[in-house]
Amino acid sequence: MRALVYYGARDIRVSEVEEPEPGKGDVLIRVIACGICGSDVHGYLGITGRRIPPMIMGHEFTGIVADTGEDVNDISKGDRVTVYPTRFCGSCSFCKTGLTNLCINRTVLGVMDVNGAMAEYVVVPKNTIIKLPNNIDPIQGTMLEPLGVVYRAVKNAPNILNNSVLIAGAGTIGLLLLQLVKLAGANPVIVTDINESRLDIAKKLGADIVLDPEREDIKDALSKLNIDGVDVAFEAVGAESSVNQVLNSVKNRGTSILIGNSQRDITVNMQNIVTRELKIFGSYTYTIEEFKATMDVINRIDTESIISKVISLEESPRVFEELAQKSSNLLKVVIRLD
Ligand SMILES: [Zn+2]
Ligand SMILES: [Zn+2]
Repeated sequence: MRALVYYGARDIRVSEVEEPEPGKGDVLIRVIACGICGSDVHGYLGITGRRIPPMIMGHEFTGIVADTGEDVNDISKGDRVTVYPTRFCGSCSFCKTGLTNLCINRTVLGVMDVNGAMAEYVVVPKNTIIKLPNNIDPIQGTMLEPLGVVYRAVKNAPNILNNSVLIAGAGTIGLLLLQLVKLAGANPVIVTDINESRLDIAKKLGADIVLDPEREDIKDALSKLNIDGVDVAFEAVGAESSVNQVLNSVKNRGTSILIGNSQRDITVNMQNIVTRELKIFGSYTYTIEEFKATMDVINRIDTESIISKVISLEESPRVFEELAQKSSNLLKVVIRLD
């Protein structure tokens, strides 16, 4: 089969590889479409250590069941599906309480050395398969994965209704967050990014205020609104500057939710956290139940404005480089395999 194989930093090529075979309890899926995640681009650059070559990336995808292994009963050839990309054990203390995202034995498709869905076929365990409802098309369906991330973060956030929210980063996650917090009744919603075209999309998708933190002071913008900081702030970049932006934007006793996961070590002002009694927590992917819940949410939001383009597998090495160089204003790019 054809697959996009990651061979090392900035070296990704379409190669002919052996088609995987479904073992007991596994399902073979013919991939229809797979989104390129920001984490895949970081992996491509070889800086995070979370993609171990040679391997195939891809965890945001939809497809059709092509074959089933032994001991698979309620899934049939031809089913349109999407996949919860975390392989979880089901028996650890976290799985037992439903926190499959925190399973201590988890592996993630298309991460580390686990082959993912930027290929014609991928094998996944049966308990991670979710049938794709008829009202979700396969390209739109690739957005269920990032939507899951956002769904969990908003669900875990405190009192958003009629409260002020700041979102740092207007990439795919930030723009999905914007729409979910608006649906949850947040007001006003401020979105920050250093890319003007992303801010334009945020404005179009309902942001009350958009601003570039390198050009405009957030504190000034907040004081114009007569607020001493926002109630809740989400960090959707994963960098020191945006984490600090979030911590500085919340009001005393405000909540910061960290979603971005890129830079490992950062410096923060601890006195700012202690003397203002700030609340900070991380939000990591989503549980399988939350993933199922996104099926009912996706048609209430605009995903088309976030998908910049749909490309072929052959075009994808060039687009990876384009995404890495940030040379164009691409947001989500989806690889179409059929
Ligand atoms: Zn992702
Ligand atoms: Zn587990």
